[in-house]
Amino acid sequence: MCFSIGQALNMSLTLKPYSESYLLDTEMILGFIVSKTREYLRAHEDENLTEIQINQFKRMLCKRKQGMPVAYIVGKRCFWDFELKVNESVLIPRPETELLVEFALKSIRSLNGAERIADLGTGSGAIAIALARENPKCSVHAVDISSDALEIARTNARNLGVSNIIFHEGSWCDGLPDLNFDLIVANPPYISDSDSHLNEKSLLYEPRLALAAKNLGYSELNSIIQNSRKFLKKDSWLLLEHGYNQQKYLIKELSRFGYSDILGLKDYADIDRMVAARWEAIDS
Ligand code: GLN
Repeated sequence: MCFSIGQALNMSLTLKPYSESYLLDTEMILGFIVSKTREYLRAHEDENLTEIQINQFKRMLCKRKQGMPVAYIVGKRCFWDFELKVNESVLIPRPETELLVEFALKSIRSLNGAERIADLGTGSGAIAIALARENPKCSVHAVDISSDALEIARTNARNLGVSNIIFHEGSWCDGLPDLNFDLIVANPPYISDSDSHLNEKSLLYEPRLALAAKNLGYSELNSIIQNSRKFLKKDSWLLLEHGYNQQKYLIKELSRFGYSDILGLKDYADIDRMVAARWEAIDS
């Protein structure tokens, strides 16, 4: 039986009831199977697929209909200027987290370079790898409580030839070595564990540990704000991603715990998304 790239792309319509991005999803899945770009697919619609490719395509489309995110189906996701391997033990890196990277680079420039950075809850290693690539002379300490996540992060660093990241298994600051940092960044879980959004199909595939937190989503953010102080150098920066309705409270908490120059930033969708604060205290 012959089955062309064009016919496969037409099958995107069967995905329409399940996904708003049904065409893009289909192109990404098919592109993965034939190891070609989306542009190639469009220019070669008459080309036939092999039987193995057809079966793989149908299986993957079926997984998408069940709600599995495309990144998990194809096992990868782009972030910053590179591609990361992902699986269900790590959060799928979001474009809004690139804002954290952008601001981190700005902070590093304002410090005239950084010697040591920490990424708490590194997951796939997205933030740590972006910062390590942009600052090859800097040591990046990447912490995660999940050994499965660390395995993915290590693989990603290795695949991208990044050698200036030191990985630690542990919970937030407890995972850090006894050193002081120029910058601590984190995209911790911040969705309230009672939020009904967590039952959305797409989120069900992602590790709950990386998404949800107690105390209306503040428990891990609070822990990082309090405990980072012991690990920050004088005039260093703490940058945290957070949920759409958490900025006001976090700014108050940062101020209560002695941080200064506190800034709240919005993401590209104009949603409050991260806080940045300076730690001015003298070196401990
Ligand atoms: N931004 C993600 C979402 O809303 C959550 C990521 C996180 O909890 N750190 O789906």
